[in-house]
Amino acid sequence: MDTTLLPEGTTLLIAGARVLLPDADWHAPGTADIAIGGDRILGIAGRFAPRPGEAPPETLDARGHLVMPGFVNAHYHSHDVLAKGTLEEVPLEQWRLYALPAQYPPRSVAEVRARTMLGALECLRSGMTTVQDMLTLYPFDPAHLDTVIRTYEELGIRVVFSLQYGDRKGLDTVPFWKEIFPPELHPLLSSAAEPEKNFDLLSYFEENCLKAPARSTVHWALGPSAPERCTPGLMARTTDLAKRYDLPVYSHIYESKGMALQARHELGQYGGSLIRRLHAEGALGPHMNFAHSVWLAPDEIEILAETGAGTVLNPQGNLKMKCGIPPIRGLMNAGVRIGLGCDNCSCSDAQNMFVAMKLFSLLSTVSDVIKGPPPAMPALRAATEGGADGARLGHLIGRIAPGYKADLTVIDLADPSFVPMNSMVRQLVNVEAGRAVRHVMVDGKWVLKDRRVTTVDERAIFEEVAAVMPTFRQDFAEITARVARLQPWLDQAQARMDASDVGIQRLPQLS
Ligand SMILES: [Zn+2]
Repeated sequence: MDTTLLPEGTTLLIAGARVLLPDADWHAPGTADIAIGGDRILGIAGRFAPRPGEAPPETLDARGHLVMPGFVNAHYHSHDVLAKGTLEEVPLEQWRLYALPAQYPPRSVAEVRARTMLGALECLRSGMTTVQDMLTLYPFDPAHLDTVIRTYEELGIRVVFSLQYGDRKGLDTVPFWKEIFPPELHPLLSSAAEPEKNFDLLSYFEENCLKAPARSTVHWALGPSAPERCTPGLMARTTDLAKRYDLPVYSHIYESKGMALQARHELGQYGGSLIRRLHAEGALGPHMNFAHSVWLAPDEIEILAETGAGTVLNPQGNLKMKCGIPPIRGLMNAGVRIGLGCDNCSCSDAQNMFVAMKLFSLLSTVSDVIKGPPPAMPALRAATEGGADGARLGHLIGRIAPGYKADLTVIDLADPSFVPMNSMVRQLVNVEAGRAVRHVMVDGKWVLKDRRVTTVDERAIFEEVAAVMPTFRQDFAEITARVARLQPWLDQAQARMDASDVGIQRLPQLS
């Protein structure tokens, strides 16, 4: 085994673990030492020797463990964390009326803090080191935004933060709603981002976030809710900001058949295609990430590949919302960037990348008839490198390499998931579910150590959640009763969407 002198400035040594290096054999990764100084990985060697005359640094004996890059949850919304477990399967267009902020009265700062912390804790405990929070704050309240950012920093998980916005009313963007519902019910129908009245959210975000001093674990992004909810003018502003500040952009595209149908209805000049519309507007490029991408057509996949735009797949939510199965093999074979996300807590329930990886892997066996490579390796790459690259942080996170941020997840291999060890990558994707996550480091600091959160008192957080739940439950009950009154018209609209032809099929057809 080669022995190398510890790099100067090493403050922590993780010794003797098996390490998932980018170019290693992920079925059987070898052992290595990792030297960390401050927030960075300084070096990796088979074995490091102490520097002569210097005391050895703090050392974690990590034999019997795997050190892997922390997962990047590349699509998530913290606004409905408290709604986990409230709903079973509901079609997407109806789910919006239960879960999304425009349906709710204004929230308290205490609730915003409790839900943000709770969601981030779940992410952390399942081995995520970065979460992309595409947050709807409606109506916008600067105190809520400050609370969210402070909460992420207090816990110490990395966040790629975007506000979700749009300038078209939800009612105008869902097929058949406007014609089927009586006009007096129209004010009750909304979507993921409703236009803010007399307030320029993007200008506020630029002045107060993009121009503020850089923070070590907070990164900014842009969140146009979905192209059909954004006018060309708003998309142009988004593209301009993305270029000027080198920001990633996250947007929902073709999550449901209804979203593809809306494009067919509205965009005749672009062949009914949102992707062709955005391409014509100059909005596509490597900065773009399309959450879901379930109802992408083959020619649209080619445009993504040509422009470098990527996707973030969310298999849990797609199944629960009856949306279908994205063309996973088609995206992989075209070379389109793929990240993985866990989406809202009310449509995916679990913020768990092991679940997302396994579903991605299994669904790719039936997503299309195209052959492709075995799915475990692409699943793990999507959950780490794909999400990091999409966030425009691929030079800092998502991989274990010198110069990268020390964002690491340490897996205890003394767990039935990994005994016997036949293939590390297959057992991570297909067997493990989060039980073996023992330590998590973000930005060079242990945030989870020996399965205990080091930065906040988890029990106190649970008490904060309990304190805000009576109000949340009361509001949720009122919303549930309201949706029940709307159900006959919702069902009519859904039946018409189901019966429509959009030229492709992403739902299993049983005969
Ligand atoms: Zn989403």
